[in-house]
Amino acid sequence: MANIEDQRRSPPAAEEQVDLLLSGGWVLTVDAQRRVFRHGAVAIRGSKIVDVGGAADLTRRYRATRTIDTSGMVVLPGLINGHRHLLCTPKGAQPDGNTTLENLRDFVYPAFASLTEEDMQAYTAHATAEMIRFGTTTFEEPGCVHLPAVLEALVKSGMRCRVGPWTWDQGGVAGANCPDWIRLTTAEAVQRLEQGLETVRAFDHPLIDDAVTIEGVGTCSDGLNVAAANLAREADSLFVLHKATSEQEVRLEREAFGHRPVEHMYRIGALNEHVFMNHVTSLEDFEVSMIAESGARIGQNPSTALKLSKGTTQTGKWPELLRAGVPIALGTDAENASNHADLCRAMYLAALLPRDARRDPSAVTAEQAIEMATIGGATALRMDDRIGSLETGKEADVTLFAASDFDWRPLHNPISNLVYGATGYSVDTVVIAGQIVLEHGVHTRIDLEETRARAEASDRRVLRDLGVDPAPLSWPIVDGPDD
Ligand SMILES: [Zn+2]
Repeated sequence: MANIEDQRRSPPAAEEQVDLLLSGGWVLTVDAQRRVFRHGAVAIRGSKIVDVGGAADLTRRYRATRTIDTSGMVVLPGLINGHRHLLCTPKGAQPDGNTTLENLRDFVYPAFASLTEEDMQAYTAHATAEMIRFGTTTFEEPGCVHLPAVLEALVKSGMRCRVGPWTWDQGGVAGANCPDWIRLTTAEAVQRLEQGLETVRAFDHPLIDDAVTIEGVGTCSDGLNVAAANLAREADSLFVLHKATSEQEVRLEREAFGHRPVEHMYRIGALNEHVFMNHVTSLEDFEVSMIAESGARIGQNPSTALKLSKGTTQTGKWPELLRAGVPIALGTDAENASNHADLCRAMYLAALLPRDARRDPSAVTAEQAIEMATIGGATALRMDDRIGSLETGKEADVTLFAASDFDWRPLHNPISNLVYGATGYSVDTVVIAGQIVLEHGVHTRIDLEETRARAEASDRRVLRDLGVDPAPLSWPIVDGPDD
């Protein structure tokens, strides 16, 4: 009784002012305890989360300038795409049926070589709009050209990003047949990486982080790999590269070095906790141990692995990497490598492909798939102190799924429905650093029609330069040409 009397005498808790309150629906925090609220709320002031809890509690304690009723929604940390190129090729125009290395040499590199500053801005606007539509708030760009122009376009998008310049020295085992585009010695390549760090740091935007980006895929020398790994560690950045992307790459490195690609990185001292290797579709168990011991991180791109027949279900080690505690991000890769930027589809594949491969229904869980798209991705990108979960003090990057249609209903288990049923088109609203960039499926910062028209105009010009048919259909198109 005494306690009740005390409570009656105490004044009501003062309401604290916040800018935005997301209140009412499911909240999957992905915090350290992996707390889930059936009727949860997220309070945001400025760019930060100030509180996460029950809706009844937070609506009593906070007075919000704006409240979004999230009843009927599922609220998650903003999704993180660990691998999305802005250096694009025209989507759909890459001929099917070629290997990774054939695609790179015959189509991808020549297309890259023809891009102007205007093209890069058009592609940045389009790619970021696409990612935001599917609930992505942060992405890693694995090396672009015209970096200053890209930075300007990134700011307009409102997305969070890690980015660096496209770099190689064409000195690796697959470097001999590279095109005559961005010819650099090893010393010049290292200088380009250093300048990339300086350019991004001088730009000094809170949503944009730097990266030490080399291509890999057998096109870079040992000297460049080691220098890039050391530079990333010394500069507290992230060394981003493509590695062990196909059995062809493995064969080339075995012939040249007597070692597999990841094993070779380990032996030359190019793996450390600031190294983020993408694809890694071919591993042996001892290489999993090398990655875990070094502290390196991995990016998985399941839809690319399938489209380009990389053998990820046969030579990938996804359950083993997870068991070893290696941070793994999910990515959707380049325009023609998987042709979409929907992390829901990536989660679905990341959860299910290893189960079939191992005939083990628990090889990768739905929860692990969500972790890879949120806190795991943040850790892989060395950004988990700021993003990846809904927690007090973290950046207010939040994705709100409308759970009203067949992909989400009946709604008993939001984790199952998200991973096995939903697509990114059920994303309703996206908040990045406290700013609403997508509201009820509509972009708030860009004119989508204009963005699409600019990207398609760049596509047509690039394809004309390359002499490539934009619609390489094996079926006859019976009416007139594209306008
Ligand atoms: Zn890539």
